[in-house]
Amino acid sequence: MPNWLEGRHALITGGGTGIGASAATHLHAAGAKITVTGRRPEPLETIRKIVNGAAVQCDVTDREQIVRAFDQARAANGPIEMLIVNAGIAESAPFHKMKRESWDRIIATNLTAAFDCAQAALSDLLKSDSGRLIFVASVASLRGVPYAAHYAASKHGLLGLMRSLAAEYAKTNLTVNAVCPGYVDTPMTDQSVARVSEITGRSEGDARSAITNMNASGRLVDPDGIGTMIMTLCLPQSRDINGAAVTIDGGTSA
Ligand code: NDP
Repeated sequence: MPNWLEGRHALITGGGTGIGASAATHLHAAGAKITVTGRRPEPLETIRKIVNGAAVQCDVTDREQIVRAFDQARAANGPIEMLIVNAGIAESAPFHKMKRESWDRIIATNLTAAFDCAQAALSDLLKSDSGRLIFVASVASLRGVPYAAHYAASKHGLLGLMRSLAAEYAKTNLTVNAVCPGYVDTPMTDQSVARVSEITGRSEGDARSAITNMNASGRLVDPDGIGTMIMTLCLPQSRDINGAAVTIDGGTSA
């Protein structure tokens, strides 16, 4: 594959694990300079070595940390031409037991942080001749999810943000898109399995197969396919893909 992204800087929030790590490796394979951010140093360091890039610790629920981290990323790799807003968390509870703190945590991490990250990179993205802003949304952006009203609300909000920015900047060289995965084989799904098992009293094996079967394909989505799609959306040839919510869910939303 040609180095279409040679010399361009991609910053991936939550880039140390799962979908973010896959995006980092695929963007690196296409020639991009990579910065990964996250809270825990160990997974960041592992991916940093693989992609020969920069790793910056940052809690995306703190706007000042984002601004500082993006400055560090610029110092290491230059202006941010591709921003992958991927960091996110999931929690589950029946709605009548859902704690207000849990709602606040989910909205802060999955939605408000997306606003803050997009603003922190915006001037760089607009100066680039092919700026790319990609949100990692979810099938939960497109339909309701029992026991995860807060998560679904945050991911629906992400598409509203994505579409508004795509429309607002349509006449520039910046494109704004989202990927909407089904259940993916990542640490987040492992945590969901444990929670479903706890809430329902089912074994972890039963909980895993219940979650797996929520994808129409009956298998978990491979994070590799999501990283590949994110890299594809970043290519200069993808300049007319703007405002898209690309489902990667094994046919669940068909
Ligand atoms: P992971 O748990 O592996 O990835 C989440 C990443 O986000 C971690 O690297 C984590 O790093 C980072 N993160 C979480 N909270 C914060 C925070 N406050 N500040 C900075 N970084 C943070 O799971 P996935 O790869 O699956 O998740 C990535 C994205 O994909 C999420 O937005 C998720 O909602 C979305 N998604 C996942 C699906 C799935 O089935 N797994 C399905 C659809 C969408 P650290 O803890 O070190 O900060």
